[in-house]
Amino acid sequence: MKDKTILIQGAMDIEVEYLIRNLEKKEKHTIAGYEFYTGYMHTSKVIISKTLVGIVNATTTTTIAILTFHPDIVINQGIAGAHKSNIHIGDIIIGEKCCNINAFSMPTKEEGHSSNPFEWEPNKRGEEIQNGNETLINIFKDFFESNYENTIYTGTLGSGDVFNREYDRIMWLQNQFHHLSEDMESIGTYSVCNQFEIPCVGIRIISNNELTNEKLDKEQAINLQKLFINFFKTKLFDFS
Ligand code: SAH
Repeated sequence: MKDKTILIQGAMDIEVEYLIRNLEKKEKHTIAGYEFYTGYMHTSKVIISKTLVGIVNATTTTTIAILTFHPDIVINQGIAGAHKSNIHIGDIIIGEKCCNINAFSMPTKEEGHSSNPFEWEPNKRGEEIQNGNETLINIFKDFFESNYENTIYTGTLGSGDVFNREYDRIMWLQNQFHHLSEDMESIGTYSVCNQFEIPCVGIRIISNNELTNEKLDKEQAINLQKLFINFFKTKLFDFS
């Protein structure tokens, strides 16, 4: 990634602190209350953005970062829940595609007729699929596969302002969207980047699996950041 400016995003402190600590010639910029850190990782010019949690924050900070720092490449990274029972804590998902798994329309029900989320259908936003950049996907797939012991999956990231914890609901969503994981930010990043035509990729390490009762382990965020540091220290390549 010679001569390219790379924006790396993470929502929570634990998802960006390790990256920020490893940034050289670091400068902090606060815009509308959001924190951005510019600097270098080895020879790459990098901006670390703490997006905060949720689609609105991810969308806002991606837009601010693009207009302010003009990145050539955007990486949205952090933890996610697995939505398949064969994907476990520590596995990594590379987002070939991304979809909003929390955008629905529903049939009308009158007072006293309860609510049945299984009757809901993805609305226009729910049907839209955003794409990750193929070159970035392949670069990170190759690097992770040869530098990380757990399984690397390439597929669809599910994203929404929701933390699903109901087995049947997760299976229903999976059947609709065929996604591998659930996070709360990547759809914001993909939508903005695709609109601006800036190559992006979402990379998520699994921190929990509600289907297999694997409880939230936020520390996985640090393992993923270590891989990125390792990547920028050892890898010098041209992205074109
Ligand atoms: N306290 C936070 C939730 C923290 S966990 C809140 O405001 O709701 C959610 C964060 O971890 C989000 O940034 C999300 O991207 C990620 N995440 C991890 N597992 C998730 C899951 N199963 N569903 C949704 N988001 C998940």
